[in-house]
Amino acid sequence: MSEKRYSKCARCPTKVCENRGAKASSSPPSLEKAPAFCPMKLMPEVYAAALAEYDKPPVKEFARLASVQEFQCYERLPDGLRPRLPRIEELIQFARKCGYKRLGIAHCGGLAYEAGLLTEVLEKNGFDVVSVQCKTGAVPKERIGISAEEKIAGPGAWETMCNPIVQAMIINRSRVDLAIMLGLCIGHDTLFIKYCDVPLTVLAVKDRVLGHNPLAALYAGETYYRRLRGKIE
Ligand code: SF4
Repeated sequence: MSEKRYSKCARCPTKVCENRGAKASSSPPSLEKAPAFCPMKLMPEVYAAALAEYDKPPVKEFARLASVQEFQCYERLPDGLRPRLPRIEELIQFARKCGYKRLGIAHCGGLAYEAGLLTEVLEKNGFDVVSVQCKTGAVPKERIGISAEEKIAGPGAWETMCNPIVQAMIINRSRVDLAIMLGLCIGHDTLFIKYCDVPLTVLAVKDRVLGHNPLAALYAGETYYRRLRGKIE
């Protein structure tokens, strides 16, 4: 059976692309030690196409500012690099760098408290803040085919559907410079991204069990979440 060939950076033992330890004046690394599934080997033509995108001045400037922001998130100390900024501070700094004035928060109803806190922080830092929560529109879940048995609050209850499409449309129409996703559900976030026409970043993803930190399950994957090593039903 022939081996499937597609990019698998997550399985790469060499990380040749990082070229760690090389001097800035060095030539790009040889791909000799890159694995067969390395995308640099599998589809080299894509890299030229991507670099052509960076040659577009607004894209190049955006990419530059993002990398400056990345740089500013560390301090170089005698014992090595130390990260120093939580993502909220990064968000504020990056939005300022980009000259953004109006920010739009698309949040889950379950994170209304956090959305309020975030609004306060952003407004104190001089931004206009638009926010729209997922239940806006008050459309019952029956509208998208949810059955009585599939309602979280029980068969007889009114349940408003999450409406990420209208969240995106309101954010688009409010002419925000940057949309910020805050805790939208899986799938609802996908729809929001599909319909959002403005630059978009994610402050937090929803994880109802782990304080919106889904990676905690991976970090505890050898202990409390060992079940993740098997097939999930
Ligand atoms: S690009 Fe190639 S060398 Fe870099 S991590 Fe992916 S597979 Fe490894």
